[in-house]
Amino acid sequence: MKIIMFGTKTAERPYAKEWAEMTGNEVKLVSENLTAETLDMVKGFDGVSIQETSPLGDADFYHQLAELGIKQISTRTAGFDMLDLKACQANGITVTNVAVYSPRAIAEMDLTQAMYLLRRVGEYESRMKQGDFRWNPELISNEIYNLTVGVIGIGNIGGATAQLYKALGARVLAYDPNKNVEYAPFVEFTDMNTIIRTADIITLHTPLLPSTKNMLAAPQFASMKKGAIVINMARGGLINTADLLDALKSKHLGGAGLDTLADEFSFFNQEVPFDQTPADYQELAKMPNVLVTPHVAFFTKTSIRNMVHISLDDVVKVVNGEHSRNEVRI
Ligand code: NAD
Repeated sequence: MKIIMFGTKTAERPYAKEWAEMTGNEVKLVSENLTAETLDMVKGFDGVSIQETSPLGDADFYHQLAELGIKQISTRTAGFDMLDLKACQANGITVTNVAVYSPRAIAEMDLTQAMYLLRRVGEYESRMKQGDFRWNPELISNEIYNLTVGVIGIGNIGGATAQLYKALGARVLAYDPNKNVEYAPFVEFTDMNTIIRTADIITLHTPLLPSTKNMLAAPQFASMKKGAIVINMARGGLINTADLLDALKSKHLGGAGLDTLADEFSFFNQEVPFDQTPADYQELAKMPNVLVTPHVAFFTKTSIRNMVHISLDDVVKVVNGEHSRNEVRI
């Protein structure tokens, strides 16, 4: 089978080549995205894999794609809102996505950030750069097995995160309106308020929805324990950043670890002069008890390999007329 893989990133290349060797299929790697301008590139191929965030094209684009013999689009992302699912359906195009590629990758980054903040590493680092090697009583740490971790949203990633903290001996509380009993061995299910009031580390793993936007804002920060650490690996909009800054400046919060920022899509995976970054990011970046990473919790070799392999496996399945469990339904 001949597959064209659009939007190929450097990190994906070895895994696509590995998959092609393993399966005997031919994969052409191109850096261009699939759009109306690049549509002709699908000529002669049986299937396509994409990775993009902007809409691919209008209804006619999908009609033309089908006319060129393409029966499926396999996106290597979890999100699929760049695809017009109705137009796909109308043109007999099956869409697959990769919703789960490595929850453990995000869970490990969560734990990494929490331990960095818990052991005050950023604060020591910043003082040591000034030649201050003292054992400051303000910086005395806690140990993770004595603490309570609250996981808000316990799906694939929240579940993997809960297991890591549990393995280190922490008490793990979880809140999710859809209680998944699979995680019962690792967590005590409770309500959101109990987590806010009692957890030493609060970690967010919900989607960004109208109902979850700003789920942590001034009232929630005020109810948290003094010195609590907040971790957000999910979506920046879950936190009111101005209120977070206030809670950090007043020293009510002990620290924050953020892999996502509310307005990150304006500078996503780009290099921007520091003074042109958003003002709230500039403030956060200067705080030694805050750690900001550029949405890279997922960015591990395992994740990228899984995204590429799962997506290409799905191309083969769908083109061969089989069903994939990753098919996106309208
Ligand atoms: P998932 O669907 O498996 O789990 C999300 C859970 O949140 C579900 O169990 C759902 O019931 C729960 N939920 C929904 N509303 C809630 C609420 N109001 N309160 C508490 N729980 C609620 O999703 P996932 O794969 O675990 O992804 C979780 C988040 O992580 C998403 O926001 C996703 O975009 C983000 N993510 C981040 C990265 C990264 O690199 N930083 C990578 C992948 C995913």
